[in-house]
Amino acid sequence: MSVTFVGMPKFPIAAAEALANPQLRRNLRHATQTIRAKRAAVVAEVPDWAELRTAGAAIKDRTLRHLDDYLLQLEENLTAAGATVHWARDAAEANRIVADIVKSHDVKEVVKVKSMATQEIFLNEALEAEGIEAWETDLAELIVQLGHDRPSHILVPAIHRNRSEVREIFLREMGNVGLAAPDDLTDVPRDLAGAARRHLREKFLRAKVAISGANFAIAETGTLVVVESEGNGRMCLTLPEVLISVVGIEKVLPTWQDLEVFMQILPRSSTGERMNPYTSMWTGVHAGDGPQEVHVVLLDNGRTDVLADTVGRQALRCIRCSACLNVCPVYERTGGHAYGSVYPGPIGAILTPLLNGVEAGPVEASLPYASSLCGACYEVCPVAIDIPTVLVHLRSEVVDSHRDGVPTAEAIGMKAISRIFSSPRLLRVAQRAGSLSRLVMGRHSGRISTLPPPFSAWSSARDAPLPAQESFRGWWVRTNGGHSSGEPGRPEQIRTEPGYSTIYESGPDSGASGQPMYGSASAGHAEGSDASGPGRAAPGPADQQ
Ligand code: SF4
Repeated sequence: MSVTFVGMPKFPIAAAEALANPQLRRNLRHATQTIRAKRAAVVAEVPDWAELRTAGAAIKDRTLRHLDDYLLQLEENLTAAGATVHWARDAAEANRIVADIVKSHDVKEVVKVKSMATQEIFLNEALEAEGIEAWETDLAELIVQLGHDRPSHILVPAIHRNRSEVREIFLREMGNVGLAAPDDLTDVPRDLAGAARRHLREKFLRAKVAISGANFAIAETGTLVVVESEGNGRMCLTLPEVLISVVGIEKVLPTWQDLEVFMQILPRSSTGERMNPYTSMWTGVHAGDGPQEVHVVLLDNGRTDVLADTVGRQALRCIRCSACLNVCPVYERTGGHAYGSVYPGPIGAILTPLLNGVEAGPVEASLPYASSLCGACYEVCPVAIDIPTVLVHLRSEVVDSHRDGVPTAEAIGMKAISRIFSSPRLLRVAQRAGSLSRLVMGRHSGRISTLPPPFSAWSSARDAPLPAQESFRGWWVRTNGGHSSGEPGRPEQIRTEPGYSTIYESGPDSGASGQPMYGSASAGHAEGSDASGPGRAAPGPADQQ
């Protein structure tokens, strides 16, 4: 099953819509700048951050190289600890497994810990189709769910909402699905959190089944780990009788010692905290303590295909910290919805086409281009995923996918440019035409902001400067390679810095017109006779010593 939302247009169209919303841009700018600054401050405190980053990448790479072995070890230890392990090839299988377990307990509702894996398989929608309501308990996910909205950030799914919008949603929606928000609710964060706490508390106390993901799964003991900030996860993982955890197969770590590295880099990269407030770890079933029935669904859903891609497989290192989203200039302006995928931002721009394939649809084919390739995402990634390289790799796959069909406008344009660049005569004509185009384009603004089709696809997203009045080639011919001003009889001094005193003259007195004359020999500058300088064009005295 696809990890994209149904009916989403390709990225440029969705991005243009998002850019037209100034309130959205304000919300995003404020939120991303705040998290960015917090992350930068706590990362700067760690003297061996670079080493931790290298270690994180190395542990993930080693694990991925032997993934089959570690997964079997994880299954063996989970089973030995009393959990039931299920293997799901895709979203449909995972959803069926979860729905069957829930139905076997004859319940109509479950509580959920925030989990990207369950979002990826659209579990809530699948459960709803079976008559089961899934209540999100993470505050931001609750806002998204009550607002009938879609998440727009991995860590802060309601980042596109400001607090007065949240207040309106709580007042309007809470009473429809449980305990209503108080009528005098303000938009002060403490009041909003209080309303959410009261609303969720009755759901926690009532629910018999909880569903979670896991940040890490430790193979040597069969232990699952959830890292969170609000405590809702701890409630879900301890109160209900049955716990179902949907875990992507790339979440496995071989040992507890490996976890040490990730517990240092994850909180600082995600929320900009030295340590997250709640870390829950559980190993199977313990009599009289926590859920008495534990299921773990190990989810592939395209991950083994990603593993087979030697360039793209580094995306499986991702620990979903969101640091790359918070620094991305594209994400900061468009927000997460424009990516049309459960995974937004730079990691979404590679993970979505990797999981689904670039030919899966217009969203997948457009996401590798949703980047300026500035490299900020790579700089902050705590497991050193080289997102720009993977983006370029995916762009080449998109281009390759069109080779057999009707050529795109871009392909036709590139072919024409290649023909022009290989012919001096055609290049001269094209440059003249470019200079003349100034007369019709951008005369008033000084910039080109609209071009006719098929070039409109390019100009719809960016302005371009006007072509130069004169091309470099034209200037070169007119001035004899810069040796003359192009105007008869007028001398021109091109370069006069000490050590490189080169006077260019043109006109009847300069002998061979336009030839450079060096230092004292021509202009009386003894100190300028160093013939090793870059202004040199012919052997001077120094060469003969
Ligand atoms: S790609 Fe790197 S920075 Fe982005 S979410 Fe994943 S781990 Fe974090």
